[in-house]
Amino acid sequence: MNGIGDAVDILGLTFPAFMAASGLSPGKATNLRRAYAAALREGRWEPESHLSRVDASLLSPRFRVGLLEAVTVVSEAGEFGSTCKAVLGLADGATVECVLIPSPGGKASLCVSSQVGCRMACAFCETGGAGLARNLSAAEIVAQAVTARVALGWEFRNIVFMGMGEPLDNPDGVSGALAVMFDQAGLGLAQERVTICTAGLPDGIERLKALGYRRLGLSVSLNAPDDVTRSSLMPVNRVFDLDALAAALAAFPSRRNFALGVNYCLVPGVNDGPAAAAGVAAFVARVGRALVNVIPYNPGSRPIGRAPTETEADAFVASLRAAGLDVRVRAPRGRALMAACGQLGGRGLS
Ligand code: SF4
Repeated sequence: MNGIGDAVDILGLTFPAFMAASGLSPGKATNLRRAYAAALREGRWEPESHLSRVDASLLSPRFRVGLLEAVTVVSEAGEFGSTCKAVLGLADGATVECVLIPSPGGKASLCVSSQVGCRMACAFCETGGAGLARNLSAAEIVAQAVTARVALGWEFRNIVFMGMGEPLDNPDGVSGALAVMFDQAGLGLAQERVTICTAGLPDGIERLKALGYRRLGLSVSLNAPDDVTRSSLMPVNRVFDLDALAAALAAFPSRRNFALGVNYCLVPGVNDGPAAAAGVAAFVARVGRALVNVIPYNPGSRPIGRAPTETEADAFVASLRAAGLDVRVRAPRGRALMAACGQLGGRGLS
């Protein structure tokens, strides 16, 4: 195991897993923990800084820190700060994208990818048009966060799994990444600072629940409250319809104050209007407390419609609020650089 290709990427290991893989005695845990923390938080694998010369020379070639190559980085200034998009190169030559999304109060979020491509084929999404190439490993998912912070200098508070791919279609990679993110010796994130965004896979929601992270955030892309329209926008609905989705969401463990995110990409003439708003309210009533994020549609390279005007978006939001829902309109940040929702993996930069 001398070459980089054989070395184990520390970014995919929790501290206990790293300890076990090191083969060093529990008595060396304190120094190992320091070396591990430097790898996760500073992107440095320099065991000689924390371990004896003998231990370091044994461990050094067996592990590595798989920071990703920033192929392209672009940014666009906005009201709350700059939206930045990075195309990151993986070891096999594939690329994924991650996006820094500013928000009021300076609490930016990092949007990470979970797959190269996606097989969900949502009609409004650039990534879905290319199909699935492969899942990302836990290390490759964590590497996006570490690369963003260490190599790109991005400051963020939250992580959202809303980039390329359907996270619940990659259970091993995502559960492994969550374990490292929540590991106090690893990234040390609080569970409520991480949100999984799904197109709506009931079995995946059940698997997520079984992980036992009771403060983890969850959001679902609803996009239409009736099966006919939703199936036309999201083929996954032909396999798992709204009844199945609502049942899985209602069973997801909710802490006090938990609000499910319900994402709604608004396409004029397709899923807007008072009847659709009433349908969204009826769906939310089945799943518990929710915050509806209305996302004005961003036409990509294969548009299915046009972007709603501000008046149209406001009218839909008013109907949702009149039905008693908590609603937020997500400003279409990053539209010019193809970093907005549904636009990753498209014609922009990759
Ligand atoms: S919206 Fe998400 S789940 Fe749907 S095709 Fe795009 S990346 Fe996949």
